[in-house]
Amino acid sequence: MPTDKPQWKELFSEVVTSGLCTGCAACVIACPHPVLDYNAEGGVYKPFHLDIDGGPEDCTHGQKGCTMCTRACPRFRNWESEIDTHKFARERTDDEVYGIGDVLLARANDHELIENGQDGGFVSALLIYALENDVIDAALVSGLEGDGSTWRAMPRVARNRADVLETAKSRYTYSANLLAYPEAVEGGAERIAVVGMGCMTSAPGAMQTRKAGKIARRLSLTIGLLCSKTFDDSIFEELFEAKYAIKRADIMKMNIKGVFQIWTRDGHLHEVPLKEAHAYTREGCTRCPDFAAEHADISTGGIGAYGDWTLVIVRTDKGRELMSDLKERGLIETRPGDDDPGAVALLHKLALVSRKRWPESAAPGPRRIPLTSH
Ligand SMILES: Cc1cc2nc3c(=O)[nH]c(=O)nc-3n(C[C@H](O)[C@H](O)[C@H](O)COP(=O)(O)OP(=O)(O)OC[C@H]3O[C@@H](n4cnc5c(N)ncnc54)[C@H](O)[C@@H]3O)c2cc1C
Ligand code: SF4
Ligand code: SF4
Repeated sequence: MPTDKPQWKELFSEVVTSGLCTGCAACVIACPHPVLDYNAEGGVYKPFHLDIDGGPEDCTHGQKGCTMCTRACPRFRNWESEIDTHKFARERTDDEVYGIGDVLLARANDHELIENGQDGGFVSALLIYALENDVIDAALVSGLEGDGSTWRAMPRVARNRADVLETAKSRYTYSANLLAYPEAVEGGAERIAVVGMGCMTSAPGAMQTRKAGKIARRLSLTIGLLCSKTFDDSIFEELFEAKYAIKRADIMKMNIKGVFQIWTRDGHLHEVPLKEAHAYTREGCTRCPDFAAEHADISTGGIGAYGDWTLVIVRTDKGRELMSDLKERGLIETRPGDDDPGAVALLHKLALVSRKRWPESAAPGPRRIPLTSH
């Protein structure tokens, strides 16, 4: 029976154990009591309640009225239309399959950022601008453990250009970037950007619309990465190494363009068919309906005919303002989305595929799809 003060007990049964949980970690960082933790080991990527104060399935703080975890969760109940209405002052139409916003292509004008970035280095350019011009104090991003040779993705805080350069490019294993929030706050940050896939970039909107207090105000900018899935870390040994003799330490860069592309230090490009990788899909992705990071201020992706450009969806006034500041200062160049109609069609198609994954038994919003696509 739904209560009007839903807490961990409801989150546990309706999201964590029902298959809807993406492992974004928003509940963990929003919880004001030391009772939630996160399991990133062995491909689990899920929050859990310590065996204290109510035990794994309930919470004594929740029984007394704390609702912070459900306020933060971007998969709890009617999340999609709640966040749409908060961010865009309306719900999306059925045809807005990849969410509300305008598509264009962009790339950094600084060649170091293009070279060092995954696609057009646009996210790096945006972060550096925002950090150097008093828009944000820090960004929650993803880096690699240690010297990078293990290719284990880790949540990180970026505070300056060097941090942004070090954490650029894409990893295709999960990094719950929100977990870097406490470190950013300890370092004095009050205006914090979240970079991440849709699962993470819907969290600030959920917190803001459900009035989760200080954390909702601090997470003031969201930069989304298009995403149809992430993979379990075991893919490195069990597929890349076992079948293709590609060792973690030899990998320089990865991309997914119809196939898994892996560049190694000896200059080789290896191609691994995506169908071989499917078995390593992270469980939290299998019911995720959000390909296009629908609640980010600006979403970014690499699909399309122009390899060294980033496909960009500008969704909010904050996003539009930043885009025009970057352009005015000559930090990026842009071209209209119409220059690459194939990319826009693919965006639409992939977003539709993801929306069909949302279970019929859950809140209906994310399954709404255009009649022409049935
Ligand atoms: C897991 C994943 C799946 C993706 N899937 C698609 C896809 O199917 N189609 C598509 O068009 N685009 C996809 N992208 C987005 C694409 O790879 C680029 O991130 C995007 O185009 C921005 O490129 P850029 O050169 O502007 O970014 P850069 O300037 O290189 O910046 C990239 C940012 O992404 C962050 N990041 C890297 N890896 C992760 C991670 N694992 N988790 C969280 N943050 C991370 C970095 O810390 C950095 O801040 C995916 C990205 C990721 C991380
Ligand atoms: S989706 Fe995110 S906020 Fe919701 S229960 Fe899972 S980890 Fe927590
Ligand atoms: S598919 Fe991408 S956006 Fe969705 S849960 Fe997985 S990592 Fe997050």
